[in-house]
Amino acid sequence: MQDEKFKVKFGNSRVERPKVLLPLSYGSSSLALLDMVISHLEEQCQNERAVQGYVLVVLHVGEDTARMERLRKKYSRVLERLEVQFVTVDPAVFVRDLAKVAVTDEYAVHRTENSESLNLQELLLQFDSRSSRQDFWQQVVQEVIFRSAVAHDCSVVIFGHSMSRLAEEILALTVKGRGSETAHRLTDGTMDYVGCSLHVIHPLREVLASEIKEYVRFSGLQEMVATEESVKHKSAKNKTVNELVCEYFETVESEYPEVISTVVKIGTKLDSPQGMAQQCILCQEAVYRDPKTWLEQMSESANKQAQSDVPLCYGCLVNVGVGGGAVWPVSRPSREEILAEYILEE
Ligand SMILES: [Zn+2]
Repeated sequence: MQDEKFKVKFGNSRVERPKVLLPLSYGSSSLALLDMVISHLEEQCQNERAVQGYVLVVLHVGEDTARMERLRKKYSRVLERLEVQFVTVDPAVFVRDLAKVAVTDEYAVHRTENSESLNLQELLLQFDSRSSRQDFWQQVVQEVIFRSAVAHDCSVVIFGHSMSRLAEEILALTVKGRGSETAHRLTDGTMDYVGCSLHVIHPLREVLASEIKEYVRFSGLQEMVATEESVKHKSAKNKTVNELVCEYFETVESEYPEVISTVVKIGTKLDSPQGMAQQCILCQEAVYRDPKTWLEQMSESANKQAQSDVPLCYGCLVNVGVGGGAVWPVSRPSREEILAEYILEE
């Protein structure tokens, strides 16, 4: 965030200021990032003639509006002089255009008529495994974040991921069969979303989770941290892929922090695969190779004659399960639809 475009402005350059979206999960990392960004803006506004270099939009995907209010109160003195918007978005906006997608025993994927109208909770409960539910929940949050960026006219999105969290995501994506997404999800750069250009940055990518914990303690932010849903399941079988990988990195962080930086270094060297891609009907991610093609090489039950009528990525195929089906939103709204939905909400 040392870029020229974020620097303090003087005179009439208000119009050129980018709007920056900061997604807040109320985890330690995103709270620490918010604290740092607010300090940065405060510093920018110390000079009477100076105008803050960018406008901040703080976004929480969820229903915890009370915590947002407490946070605003905490920074109320500083916020009087700054342009910062606080927004809480109900993840239910994700539910639209539902269809049923089924995977046959021969690994063919079909889209069928859907007669059920399910809410978000019910959509997620269709999946038995906690890991699949968490995988889809992550997709929901990410989609709502990017849609909110478009709706609020933000050209920059800053994520609070620490180095430890990035390492967790890199391994978890690989295990979940989403390795091809690593480059565009975790590397800083510009991405296209419904025709809008979004610059994605992870400013805390050099900082370990243990260092963030210390920062949160020193800055008195602990009371703002939302305690995560406790994992009652002792057995590894009931843990999600992300939980298992996270636990692994927590155990190595104090003695071998270089393991974490190595994973992140290697992860950021990855590039998106080459070639033409189709779009997965469930997660909208690029599918470079039909998972059916190589599942056929490993399994006798696969049948080359059984053709899929919609593309499904390997990660989603595992979540839905062979012989299973799920009702899910099968399209992403256009920029116009996103803007219209948000106007209706207000
Ligand atoms: Zn998918």
